[in-house]
Amino acid sequence: VKAKTKNIIKGAESAQEVGVIGAGIMGGGVAYVTADKGMDVVLKDINKAGLALGLDEANSLLSKQVERRRKTPKAMGDTLNRIQPTLHNESLQATDMIIEAVVENPKVKEVVLAELEQVAPNAVIASNTSTLMISGLAQALKKPENFCGIHFFNPVPKMPLVEVIRGEKTSDETIQRAVKYVAQLGKTPIVVNDCAGFLVNRCLAPYFHAFNQLVVDGGHIPTIDKVMSKEFGWPMGPAYLLDVIGLDTAAHCLDVMEEAFPGRMTKPEKNLIQAMVDLDHYGQKNKQGFFTHT
Ligand code: NAD
Repeated sequence: VKAKTKNIIKGAESAQEVGVIGAGIMGGGVAYVTADKGMDVVLKDINKAGLALGLDEANSLLSKQVERRRKTPKAMGDTLNRIQPTLHNESLQATDMIIEAVVENPKVKEVVLAELEQVAPNAVIASNTSTLMISGLAQALKKPENFCGIHFFNPVPKMPLVEVIRGEKTSDETIQRAVKYVAQLGKTPIVVNDCAGFLVNRCLAPYFHAFNQLVVDGGHIPTIDKVMSKEFGWPMGPAYLLDVIGLDTAAHCLDVMEEAFPGRMTKPEKNLIQAMVDLDHYGQKNKQGFFTHT
């Protein structure tokens, strides 16, 4: 992968000022890792509460670095100062790379993407969508060649892999700039073709359905999680992973996958994830999911 990346990014422009749209779980993490690598970040959300959550996340990640003596308090301050929070699109005018990380709803994303193109016509615009096809979202844009997917994984500071998705109309230059930005973050980019769920979530969706069905069949959630993590060796079990992703986001993603792959990604009749969302249990983000989080 390293050799391929080197080839792809030869001569590509580096990102200098990065816009991040949506300061939730993913946007907060992307803003943090980008500022941490010395780039300026404009972090935009639709409300102050959303922005505060994203900034809190960056603050707490940096505080941990200081506690572990991996960063000085001055370096922490410098990183935080590079993140400019905003509620206004105009603040994005000078950005050359924009990561859209708003809710997994195509209608919302399409409006946001069209606005971004107006305000920063020379930027690469990338969606962090987990499941929606890039070629579908691109229909909202006048210049789809400047658009691709840059799909980070959660938690962003820890996960090395980033999928860079080439839509039908994405230009080579856009892919080069996207891959270069991921490399600037010290992460591992893989360029994948466009399809619902890309590579990783096409594997994960059936895994979550299998977990759901196992529980419906009488499986005990903490036992399944313990077996899949501690005993089987994965970093966490399926229930905990769903809590980390956010059950609302996971439910949207599984809907998209079911629609995209009829008969192959069908949700179990008794849909536990949706049942949790209906109870307002969203996982780690509101402290209540399959597990209680402090
Ligand atoms: P989230 O619910 O934590 O955050 C979404 C944020 O977007 C909120 O702060 C909300 O206020 C903001 N928002 C909504 N509409 C907006 C608008 N019009 N303009 C600006 N901000 C707006 O969601 P998340 O988990 O961070 O997911 C964001 C995206 O990243 C989704 O597309 C999701 O599929 C994808 N993703 C999520 C994960 C995960 O594990 N949660 C992993 C990879 C990718």
